[in-house]
Amino acid sequence: MKVELHLHTSRYSACSQNTPAAMMERLIQTGYDAVFITEHNAVWSDEEIAQLQSGFPEIRIFPGVELSTGVDGSQHILVLGTTDSEYLKLRSAEQILQKSRQDGCLSVLAHPFRWAGGAEILKSKILPDAIEYYSGNHKHPDAEMALEVSKRLNLPIVNTGDVHSLADINQFWIETHYPIESPGDIRKVILERAYDNCVFG
Ligand SMILES: [Zn+2]
Ligand SMILES: [Zn+2]
Repeated sequence: MKVELHLHTSRYSACSQNTPAAMMERLIQTGYDAVFITEHNAVWSDEEIAQLQSGFPEIRIFPGVELSTGVDGSQHILVLGTTDSEYLKLRSAEQILQKSRQDGCLSVLAHPFRWAGGAEILKSKILPDAIEYYSGNHKHPDAEMALEVSKRLNLPIVNTGDVHSLADINQFWIETHYPIESPGDIRKVILERAYDNCVFG
């Protein structure tokens, strides 16, 4: 399955340029099978996900969130597979990572080397389940630094679009070795490393 793990829409992310519908259309055109919607500090409800899903049966649409935490909000953590607004009340990275694990969600440290302090959580006892590799906002040399850290800490590393506009789609993604049927499956696939990181071209 061709999967987008990190996507913002103009519905809840002010920095995103395109509507959910426009994003879904482009994902389908470029062959994606599944997408996780990860707005900045906002969750979609189950009803909203179901409504968008009913308009785009060609792609599986799953919920998630991108939470800003740490000093100056420089640490961004994706929690994949949740519509739980309780995450928005959590202040520390440790609390977020713990809840994500309890809930059976997948936590991913987004663009760890985009900003100073973005990788601080990697020094603490509780680690994210995975870290971001290449994305629209995390390329060479940041991505290579992430690869080194992932090897040192033995963490899976994943390509994402960090999609904010249609042009970010079909640049970086993962291909899973078996289908994602429910939001919880993504945790299993990534922890089993049953996926490949892909790059356009
Ligand atoms: Zn971010
Ligand atoms: Zn993002």
